[in-house]
Amino acid sequence: MTAGRRRIVAGNWKMHLTVPAAVALGRAIQQGLPAAPAAEVVLFPAATALWALHELLAGETRVALGAQTAHWAPEGAHTGEIAVSMLEGCCTHVLVGHSERRRDAGETDAVVRRQLEAVLAGGLRPMVAVGETLAERESGRMAEVVSRQTTAAFSGLGADAVRRCTIAYEPVWAIGTGRVATVEDAGAAIAGIRKALENVAGPTADTVRILYGGSVTPQNAAPLFAAPGIDGGLVGGASLDPAAFCAIIAAAE
Ligand code: PEP
Repeated sequence: MTAGRRRIVAGNWKMHLTVPAAVALGRAIQQGLPAAPAAEVVLFPAATALWALHELLAGETRVALGAQTAHWAPEGAHTGEIAVSMLEGCCTHVLVGHSERRRDAGETDAVVRRQLEAVLAGGLRPMVAVGETLAERESGRMAEVVSRQTTAAFSGLGADAVRRCTIAYEPVWAIGTGRVATVEDAGAAIAGIRKALENVAGPTADTVRILYGGSVTPQNAAPLFAAPGIDGGLVGGASLDPAAFCAIIAAAE
């Protein structure tokens, strides 16, 4: 971490949990947190549970809430999608460009950019996910891929907009596989992302938190979070276990 950038630990609950189970998990996380955690905590439940979590977390200053995606259009004939305006007043963050969305919904860099702009226009805070596949890494293209994704997302955005964003570096081969990136590999990728961001956003890039995501656990979180340039974590599987998630948050102290 670099001085001045508060760490973030975010939980991506993906397509898991009924509404009552999501509320129970949210409550258990609240109970497991210290009075003033060092890290910002953000939860990304499924859309069905957002409102119930919003009500649970009313007045809760330690935990923020986000949606896992949002459509770029303000409204309209997009069955199954959710517009940013529907999220306003319910949550403060939106995950954009997660690799599972790029894979399942065919979201391209151009679509991710449109979503990012819509989230910013709605006054919410985007968390933009970038990362290479195993084939891209093995063919020596990691740096090119994360740089391309970062440039496509941020090129030409104003400084105020860039400042409101967080980036999550999530190598696709590490997500849900138990195969965590080494501190060196994550650090090298994140340095490349920050360089690409600097190229398009200038000194503002230094204010943007860049997280690592991919099989983070209570066992591996501390060395990752202590590495230079890694400003926290985006956590999938382990965020479904309140004790594990709270231990990961504690590792960001
Ligand atoms: C994720 O879903 O963003 C993620 C990093 O998942 P996991 O921690 O399970 O690898």
